[in-house]
Amino acid sequence: MNRLALFYLVASLALATGCQTGSFGSKPSQADGTESREQKPPVLRGVHLLLGSDAQAAALQEEMPKLAAVGVNALVLETDYNFEFKSHPELSSPGCVTQARAHELAAEARRLGIRLIPQINCLGHQSWSRSTLSLLAQHPEFDETPGQYPNNTNIYCRSWCPQNPQVNQVVFALVDELVTAFEASAFHAGMDEVFIIASEHCPRCKGHDPAKLFAKAVNDFHHHIVKERKWEMFLWADRLLDAQMMGYGEWESARNGTAGAVDLIPKDIVLCDWHYERRTHYPSLPFLVGKGFRVWPAGWKSLPAAQALSKFSRQQQSRQVVGYLCTTWGAVKIPALAEWPPLVDVLKERN
Ligand SMILES: [Zn+2]
Repeated sequence: MNRLALFYLVASLALATGCQTGSFGSKPSQADGTESREQKPPVLRGVHLLLGSDAQAAALQEEMPKLAAVGVNALVLETDYNFEFKSHPELSSPGCVTQARAHELAAEARRLGIRLIPQINCLGHQSWSRSTLSLLAQHPEFDETPGQYPNNTNIYCRSWCPQNPQVNQVVFALVDELVTAFEASAFHAGMDEVFIIASEHCPRCKGHDPAKLFAKAVNDFHHHIVKERKWEMFLWADRLLDAQMMGYGEWESARNGTAGAVDLIPKDIVLCDWHYERRTHYPSLPFLVGKGFRVWPAGWKSLPAAQALSKFSRQQQSRQVVGYLCTTWGAVKIPALAEWPPLVDVLKERN
């Protein structure tokens, strides 16, 4: 899934052209996996977007009323390091999303009843093709495979080391700035498609259990985001799914030993369970619900696949399935979002 390639494409196109206090779906499951009988939370009708520049953010600001009109009530905004970080300006890029713009988006979102969930993709996805993203470019000492794979050859993406004693100090400062600027009450930590973990090239992690290392990364974030900041935490679900058990491929589920982490992390994390191909069954949904998590199913550009996932998720008849998340990955330009069938046709079924 060449997501970051799409990201760069969209970012370049955009450059060429031009206090969220809601708590949707925020009732955590109880420790025994049953649900509270309290008031039913609103269904999350979300869109995930890559925001690589202030120009893209401006385009989104214009599009937001139309998105609200077609039922969108949540936006996951993945800026990664393309944000005006004042705590670590060396990580920001020219033309990045500004703090002022984030506040403008927050005000518009509040007016429209849209919840903003900012995102930096954490742990994995720290490079794409020959390009290493700014965190590891500026801090190569955080790399899980320091000095290995020159020009990022023969790897999918770089990862940071979840046991590096300094990395979280830097990243948590970015998280705090981003969530504060978007006046949000949640953070999406990403952590999808982490293929490099417990590397033989990391003196701290070599020989360790990938599931325990992945869980440590998640739990460190949960401690900061949920315990300390009292925000809600979202996460992609693929590393928590055993590929053999689920019958999925190695992208939307794990063949690299991380799946055991599903039993080692808190149940109040909202898991975004993405599947982009049409299937009759998506076994990860009942699996994760059965584990006690709230699950946000996420589809992409294939309308039949998105409809199949949405239909299957509604058939679960579980309040732990919190709605539907439409990912975009550069398949649609921001000004065309509110007319995009995989968004409009699927979200209108979710009430
Ligand atoms: Zn390591």
